[in-house]
Parts: sequence; C-alpha cells; structure tokens
Amino acid sequence: MRDIKNFDLKELEGEFLALGAKPYHARQVFSWLYKRGVWDFNYMSDIPQSLRKELADRFYVLGFRLLKHLDSQDGTRKILLGSKDNNSIEAVVIPAKSRVTGCLSSQVGCKYGCSFCASGMLGFKRDLTTGEILEEAIYLKDNALENRLTHLVFMGTGEPMDNYDNVIKAIRIMNSSAGLNIGARRITISTSGIIPGIERLSSEGLQLELSVSLHAATDGLRSTLMPVNKVYPLRELIYTCKEYSLKTRRQVTFEYILIKGLNSSLRDAEDLFRLLKDFKLAKVNLIPSNYIPELRFAPAAKDSVDIFKDYLVKSRINVTLRKERGEDINAACGQLRLNYAKN
Ligand code: SAH
Ligand code: SF4
Repeated sequence: MRDIKNFDLKELEGEFLALGAKPYHARQVFSWLYKRGVWDFNYMSDIPQSLRKELADRFYVLGFRLLKHLDSQDGTRKILLGSKDNNSIEAVVIPAKSRVTGCLSSQVGCKYGCSFCASGMLGFKRDLTTGEILEEAIYLKDNALENRLTHLVFMGTGEPMDNYDNVIKAIRIMNSSAGLNIGARRITISTSGIIPGIERLSSEGLQLELSVSLHAATDGLRSTLMPVNKVYPLRELIYTCKEYSLKTRRQVTFEYILIKGLNSSLRDAEDLFRLLKDFKLAKVNLIPSNYIPELRFAPAAKDSVDIFKDYLVKSRINVTLRKERGEDINAACGQLRLNYAKN
C-alpha cells in the first residue's frame, strides 16, 4: 500500500492512466482529499465504483493516528501524531485574529542539536515523507476552528533544508490550486542556516517566506548555541541571505530567541546591529525563549528584552517582538514529543 499523498497531481494522473482510468479523476480525488476533507475513497461519489475499489486496494490516505492533543487557554492546539513505525510527530495550530497558522514538523527529531531546543534532544530518527508533511496540515486543518488554515510555518521539529525535496514537494501541493491552495507568501520555511538549502530555495521560483534562526550575532557565541554555525558561519550565511533577497526580492526574517544571561545584553544587540546594518531587506523577530526544564536556559527578563528591542529600533533595524503562544501547553518546538517520550 502506498500513501496517495506522496503524489503530486501530475504523478497521480500518470498513476490513474496506468490503471486505465481517466486522468481527470485524479483532480477529483485531489479535491476530495485537500478541499473537502474526505479521506475514504468510498465516499468520493464522482469517482466510478470500480476505480474507488482499485484505489482503496492500492493506496491509503491517512497513515497517522492522533495520539494526543493539548489545548492552550489562548486557543493554540498542539497535536501529537503517531506513525505506523511508532514515531511521534508534533504539529500546532495557532489562531490569531484573522489568521490561523499551522506549525509543521519536517523530520522525526533533528540532527543539529542546538543547545536551547527540545527537538534535538531525542536525536534524529528519519525524514518525514511528502505525504506525512501534508498529513500534518490535513490534521491541523481538521483541528482548526471552521477547518480554516490560512498560514503554514515549518517551525516544528526538524530542519526543513535537511529534507529539502520532500518539503518542497509538499509545499507545492499545499500551494497549488488543486491542493490546499495556500499562497506561497503564507508559507514560511525556517532554517538553522543551511547555506546550500537557501541557495537552492532562491531558484525555486516560489514566493515563500524565509526565516533564519540566528539567535546570536558572533561566531563564537553562535557556534556554542548552534553547532551548525561551525559549518556555515555567519559571514557566509548573511551573504547567502542577501543574495537570496536580491534574487527573490523577498525579505528575510532573522529569528532571535532572547535567553537570560547569554545573548540578550546590550552588547549582543550591538553585535546584531553590526551584522545586519547594511542588509536592507532584513527583519529581526525577537522571541522570548520558552523555558524547557531539561535545558539550562531561562527566558531573558522583560526589562532586558525592552532594552534590546529599543536599541534595535533606534538603530533603524526592522524589528518585531513575537508574542509567545501556547506557553501553558509546551508549544515550543519538540517539547511535547520530549514529554511524551519521557512518560
Ligand atoms: N530547524 C529549523 C526549523 C525548526 S524551527 C530552525 O531551526 O529554524 C524551530 C524554531 O523554534 C526555531 O526558530 C528555534 O530556534 C525555535 N526554538 C527552539 N527552541 C526554542 C525555545 N526553547 N524557545 C523558543 N524558541 C525555540
Ligand atoms: Fe534542529 Fe532547528 Fe531545533 Fe536546531 S533549532 S535543533 S536546527 S529544530
């Protein structure tokens, strides 16, 4: 049995042709799956009975089961999905005014071992398939109020650039009018700074949002927080991001978690200013860090957050402060998986 969501529309048309079926039925099946939220071939009423049976013999639609969901008082819902090979995958839906954002994982675990992040703590297991990534979005849509999902961000577990092909294929299906029909500008890839991935992304012709997890503005500090910095150091990373923004004419967002006593002093803010001062299309998104008991880090105090932010504002860096969501349900990346694995 194969996961039908691993096929894009063109490939599925090919599969249908090979079965002796009309290719336009592939588009109808797409519509049932991604628009109407029907996952049982039996209920796809405009597909001939015999084809429905053949499809059910050859393909499955949903491979995960819902292990757990957690609701935050602010409306954020986190879900933990279980795969057939007994891995757990977490995804979050975050409603905010007119938007409903789905936060997706791209891998089971993560190789990169950033010291502040729960995702890497259980090590790396495997990449998620295209179908599995889409399935997270399907589950989130199903769990969202009025089944509405307007934005998607790859900020769950894993490094999307390390599972590039499956992530991009899933994004193309999410973006396509036959699929989830979510605009590319509403889909964000977040990376720890994998330079070859950013270079590849600049040639995809997709208007995606790119976020780079920066978290420190000097190589010395960044390498201790994010070992990946030793492979892709700051100068090259910022250069690549500038090239990316020149080529795509898109803004690049730099994520910066403020951790107490580590990267949140005025000197750190000055370093950040120096790093980005001549990067026209850069934006800094400051994030109050999530407290993860297993890790040594605590969030920076509110007054140092304010001093840090004010300095950047005065220095004319484009900066925002992200409101922390879902804190009461451990909504930060990897936290639910970690707690589940401990039980
Ligand atoms: N691997 C990619 C995608 C995962 S994104 C990346 O690193 O960008 C996960 C986001 O959550 C990243 O911006 C990461 O830095 C952030 N994050 C990890 N641990 C966190 C914590 N304890 N508090 C707040 N944000 C955290
Ligand atoms: Fe992996 Fe990103 Fe977490 Fe680093 S921050 S361990 S790259 S998921």
